Amino acid sequence: MKTSDKLFIEADLHCHSLASSHAYSTVMEMASEAAKAGLKMFALTDHAMAMPDAPHVWHFHNLPVIPQKIDGVTVLRGVEANIMNFDGDIDMVGDDLKGIQWVVASCHAPVIDPGTVEENTSAYINAIKKNPAIDVIGHCSAFRYPVDFEKIAKACREYNVFVELNESSAQFKRSTAESCIELLNACKKYETPILVNTDCHYAGIIGRTPVAQVLLEAADFPETLIFNRDVQRVLEYVSKKHNIIFSED
Ligand SMILES: [Zn+2]
Ligand SMILES: [Zn+2]
Repeated sequence: MKTSDKLFIEADLHCHSLASSHAYSTVMEMASEAAKAGLKMFALTDHAMAMPDAPHVWHFHNLPVIPQKIDGVTVLRGVEANIMNFDGDIDMVGDDLKGIQWVVASCHAPVIDPGTVEENTSAYINAIKKNPAIDVIGHCSAFRYPVDFEKIAKACREYNVFVELNESSAQFKRSTAESCIELLNACKKYETPILVNTDCHYAGIIGRTPVAQVLLEAADFPETLIFNRDVQRVLEYVSKKHNIIFSED
């Protein structure tokens, strides 16, 4: 691989397999594409049950059958949970979280109707306050759910939750460049670590974040705050937070 082809991130922490029926690749295909691209880790984060295209809850109960490493790539057993209301309840709690190693929490149109800026902001902030299992809030720059980015960045910093810069939202125009840059500026101001994730629904683009990179450059965003550029940091964080022992090989 040429140096110029090197991926910007080492861990892609928001990826869908065909268990979410509007995504199209198997776990093996995702691992194989990740290995080919030089990605070191990805999180399998299919939609939790409140989404119409979600798998049955057994999908999540059975995730431990997937090896922790495939083709040399670490596979985190995760979920994209749905924020259900402005009080911040999510659809993945209690025993259903057993064995889950990574939790994205997002607002999706079939589950929660958009509210005012204040209501949408409360939905995210209440979710992270109420659900300590959440690692990252997903695609919060999406224009369907306008939020107060400063409040979000501040709360995420306070509760040790990552903010996501979502490649799919930026690339497929569910977020404007302006809102992404506003989000990045707020994270910069409060020194809130972010994750740059693809939210890929097709294995061929796993780990690739061209639009996000342009936005980061436009915002002059500090590299030290981009947490998933370094897989080692992610491994340490996940081991501690979700109590996982990763083997060396
Ligand atoms: Zn989503
Ligand atoms: Zn997603």
